[in-house]
Amino acid sequence: MNLRERIMDYVVDLAPQPAVPVAGTRRSFPVRRLYCVGRNYAEHAREMGHDPRREKPFFFQKAADSIVTDGVFPYPTVSSDVHHEIELVVALKAGGGNIPAAKARDIIYGFAVGLDMTRRDLQAEAKKAGRPWEAGKAFDRAAPISAITPVEQSGYLVKGAITLDVNGERRQSADLADMIWPVADIIAELSQLFLLAPGDLIFTGTPAGVAAVKRGDKLHGEIARLSALDVVVT
Ligand code: MN
Repeated sequence: MNLRERIMDYVVDLAPQPAVPVAGTRRSFPVRRLYCVGRNYAEHAREMGHDPRREKPFFFQKAADSIVTDGVFPYPTVSSDVHHEIELVVALKAGGGNIPAAKARDIIYGFAVGLDMTRRDLQAEAKKAGRPWEAGKAFDRAAPISAITPVEQSGYLVKGAITLDVNGERRQSADLADMIWPVADIIAELSQLFLLAPGDLIFTGTPAGVAAVKRGDKLHGEIARLSALDVVVT
């Protein structure tokens, strides 16, 4: 047996490749890593008890296989305070390190509408204890996402409405121009910390209005010119 055969001879089943449909096609975008930006809209930073002026962007990750593309979000275990966070998602077609903001556009494949679902009670406990956020942020099915619209169709998004309705009622509403750190700056900062690569998704932070969901809720997220995101909590 040569080395390649041995490497391919896995001792447990190979996990499926997480992937997001591309709008208007039968093709899909394979997900490598899923990064998230914290506190990127001033009003949301304030509602979480922080001063937005003092913050540099910071990042955390969710598991790539926590994406949800079938619109079903099962209420997760352990938590009794699960919040919605509507966010613009950037999908990368190329990568690298130390990417200047002026070159960031060149590595974008497209954009999508995402929900950074959060077990807020577990996140709050972790913050208080100075512990990692994974239990609050990186749980199974924590990242519902719409189909990805290629940038050739959406244009490069720097402004436009971002909204979330729950059961037909508006809960979050802002403009992408309200981001403290726009997409190009996020890519520049993130690429100093990690080597970016094709298949990476970046959730770019949520505006104000985050709140708890309950079983049966119907979530509808929209961002200008992108495919909408519809999710039901089960
Ligand atoms: Mn978020």
